Amino acid sequence: MIGLHVAPEEAVQVQLDDVPLTVRVIRQARKTLAIHLTRKMTFEARAPLRMPFGEVERYVQSQTDWMTKVLSKRAALPEAQKLSYRDGAVHWFLGEQYRLKLLPATRFFAHVSDGEIRVAVNKLDEASVSKALQKFYLREAEMRLPERVRFWHRRMYQRELPELKFRAMRSRWGSCAAHGGITLNTCLLRASLPVIDYVIVHELAHLTHFDHSPRFHALVGAVLPDWKTRQKQLTVPCGF
Ligand SMILES: [Zn+2]
Repeated sequence: MIGLHVAPEEAVQVQLDDVPLTVRVIRQARKTLAIHLTRKMTFEARAPLRMPFGEVERYVQSQTDWMTKVLSKRAALPEAQKLSYRDGAVHWFLGEQYRLKLLPATRFFAHVSDGEIRVAVNKLDEASVSKALQKFYLREAEMRLPERVRFWHRRMYQRELPELKFRAMRSRWGSCAAHGGITLNTCLLRASLPVIDYVIVHELAHLTHFDHSPRFHALVGAVLPDWKTRQKQLTVPCGF
């Protein structure tokens, strides 16, 4: 008999916060067992070829707290996406969808009107338009967000406002440096204001707790009791 021998797929079923989840087991020529979170937000257990399945299963089951933590941390990270910058492509601004309207012009300008983000650039190729749109988000961030940061900072602290910067970033919505400077991702301008406020409060809370500990989340929760809902709404793409 000629046939292809396919090893049966191995998987471990776990419960994370009462949500059932399948962890795929990948056999590899390796010495240790490790769990990885994939880009698709699923877990994979990479196991040595000869490790008994029972042992793999026990290890995966013992890691559910860690998996929950990793997942909730990742949930606040942007999903990198390749966006289209052609005329008519859909883009987001303050939580609303708009069509991109490209206008040839020698000087850059961008504004929102009639359900369109109108961008004028001298070259209409995607790279140039992407750059122009980044410029638009940066300008809007500089115009709108300092006031939000001041508002939430006043509610949380009685000290000097930290240094605030804006930058287009691929892998995070915001960051808080050890010296207290806060950087916000200009891609945030794609999200709605309540969601942007959540990211601002999250970063401001890092001025007190430099981790994602329960004390950190308690502080965020004291300022924004519905922060979890806002965090879940942080689904706008972050690509450029
Ligand atoms: Zn954080």
